Amino acid sequence: MAKIQMSTPLVEMDGDEMTRILWQMIKDMLILPYVELKSEYYDLGLPHRNETGDQVTVDSANAAKKYGVAVKCATITPNAARMPEYGLKEMWKSPNATIRAMLDGTVFRAPILVKGVNPYIPTWKRPITIARHAYGDVYKNSELTVPAGAKAELVITNPDGSETRQLIHDFAGSGIVQGLHNLDGSIASFARACMNFALDQKEDLWFATKDTISKKYDHRFKDIFAEIFEDEYKEKFAAAGIEYFYTLIDDAVARVVRSEGGFIWACKNYDGDVMSDMVATVFGSLSMMTSVLVSPDGVFEYEAAHGTVQRHYYKHLKGEKTSTNPVATIFAWSGAFRKRGELDGLPELMGFADKLERATVQTIEEGVMSGDLAALSTIPNKQVVASEEFLAAIGQRLTALM
Ligand code: NAP
Ligand code: MG
Repeated sequence: MAKIQMSTPLVEMDGDEMTRILWQMIKDMLILPYVELKSEYYDLGLPHRNETGDQVTVDSANAAKKYGVAVKCATITPNAARMPEYGLKEMWKSPNATIRAMLDGTVFRAPILVKGVNPYIPTWKRPITIARHAYGDVYKNSELTVPAGAKAELVITNPDGSETRQLIHDFAGSGIVQGLHNLDGSIASFARACMNFALDQKEDLWFATKDTISKKYDHRFKDIFAEIFEDEYKEKFAAAGIEYFYTLIDDAVARVVRSEGGFIWACKNYDGDVMSDMVATVFGSLSMMTSVLVSPDGVFEYEAAHGTVQRHYYKHLKGEKTSTNPVATIFAWSGAFRKRGELDGLPELMGFADKLERATVQTIEEGVMSGDLAALSTIPNKQVVASEEFLAAIGQRLTALM
């Protein structure tokens, strides 16, 4: 069988620990036998980030900008414990944060659905994709404790030196105060990323804030989304047969719970933090969540939503077999191949992405799965296998589909 050809390289960002082991297995067992892989390889494993002074992360993000599609393995974000473990020169920043800042991107997370792993909410039939705004609000706040008898004010020093002041509260008793901000430019990028993604997926876009209470702050989010939609997207949405729907955040939560799924839910930073864990939990597990970073100018970076599965890696180092779930990482590859195929007009490559996903889902639905999935699945006679056997079982089905 002739291998499928590619015309433009994928930007391949390798990572750490157990997911790095899975990465190589996925390539060897599920990709290289079928695809003449063209990739520009960047090793974002912590040892190499440390050697290059983290330059490799910057280089990989620039390559993603150049080629438009990247696939990334989970990476360690160093903490104090990692300094001696890896002999680090510095506590390097999270690669995801570096890449996200360079691409000015929005992260979209969606669950992978399989029969026999049933959402806790029985009406949810189709995936719900969460789009989380990744700038500002409480994540870049300034806060103070306030003694009794103090007065708190908001003060803006204008460019001409004049001040705008507004009372926050006269504190009779002691308390706390917090200052938040956001930027029109960041909100606009977020709106465009969400609207482009909705068009890409051909799914409705929902957005919600608390604009009835927050008449300037949250209202600005609502207005920017509405303006961009009216000016740039209304006709495109109509042509694609999809809707943009705005409501209040509490109303949105009620509607989401009663929905059948199948839409994109754009969330402010904090709402996205909380709601993405809620959605992931209802659908089953973090190991079945895909994640894609989309920039406003159309760069796509695919990855799994989970981390490097450190605990399994230490077992692996002791020579034990682990039953680590490779599904979200496989879907990162399939997502990247599908997008590359779409951009380059390569239907065979897009077809491969579909078959790889189908073979993966079929394997689980036929009862062969990793331990975390077996704990969730209701199907009878399930067989818990190690990662390598799981990938081999997927490979058999993929070969049959090819
Ligand atoms: P994690 O790697 O997501 O794993 C947490 C736990 O969730 C695991 O111990 C495991 O539970 C379960 N789990 C997650 N993915 C799984 C999979 N594919 N198959 C089976 N079980 C899975 O999170 P962490 O342990 O908090 O973080 C480890 C490292 O990952 C950290 O250094 C962190 O910085 C990094 N991280 C990277 C990213 C990224 O690159 N996008 C994201 C998050 C975290 P059991 O142990 O109970 O089996
Ligand atoms: Mg969180």
